[in-house]
Amino acid sequence: MSVKAKKHLGQHFLRDENIAKKIADTLSLEGYSNILEIGPGMGVLTKYLLEKDCTTYVIEIDTESVDYLKANYLNLAPRIIEKDFLKYDLTEVFKNEPLAIIGNFPYNISSQIVFKTLEIRNQIPEFSGMFQKEVAQRICQKEGSKTYGILSVLTQAFYHADYLFTVSPNVFNPPPKVDSGVLRLTRKDNFTLPCDEKLFFKVVKTAFQQRRKTLRNSLKSFNLSDILKANVIFDKRPEQLSVEAFIELTSLIENDN
Ligand code: SAH
Repeated sequence: MSVKAKKHLGQHFLRDENIAKKIADTLSLEGYSNILEIGPGMGVLTKYLLEKDCTTYVIEIDTESVDYLKANYLNLAPRIIEKDFLKYDLTEVFKNEPLAIIGNFPYNISSQIVFKTLEIRNQIPEFSGMFQKEVAQRICQKEGSKTYGILSVLTQAFYHADYLFTVSPNVFNPPPKVDSGVLRLTRKDNFTLPCDEKLFFKVVKTAFQQRRKTLRNSLKSFNLSDILKANVIFDKRPEQLSVEAFIELTSLIENDN
């Protein structure tokens, strides 16, 4: 018996054991002892995580997959969380303990998984797994590229982002229409944002909403002083700004009277 793939849950089951092992091996396992896998499906990745010197939990929304896991991985049963990751409060299980997040993620909610991780980053020292290739590349992209955007800046403000390798559609059942990419995020040590966090998120999002305009135009709604707007940084377009420059820009806006 195996799980029948459901499209609305983004189910594409990985068939290649070597790739599953390679993904499981992307975690350093340093500085934490819990792993949470999102969307284990039939457990292709889970079985390699269970070999690690860490406690592995899984969160899975699909009842059929949960039943499959319970039947096939007896030891895992008490650590299966049958919930929607996006709605789940991780402190219920993990309290304030650190954990790594990993998965061959459901691609339909991949950006939301990253945004949620950023929200709870104090608890997540490491994050790795598979996304649609374009999304994985975008997250790791540096300034100066067309695909550099909101996800790149917000993620790289808090994490070192490494694109690791590409995976072709034919190793999945059913095959997705796109290539996949595996990445790893490693949280920056002892980093705190030197500017207001909410404002930082708002500046980045607003700037990229009109990515072809200069910041002077796209950030009009912030009602900035003429003195500040004369700063040459406002001649730029958002994709020209490094993460550090966005942080500096936010500080300038924060201190503008
Ligand atoms: N890791 C497995 C399955 C990948 S498919 C493999 O590599 O073969 C993505 C998985 O995420 C599916 O099992 C799907 O049921 C699950 N999923 C989808 N949305 C979810 C959500 N919101 N929360 C938790 N799991 C989810």
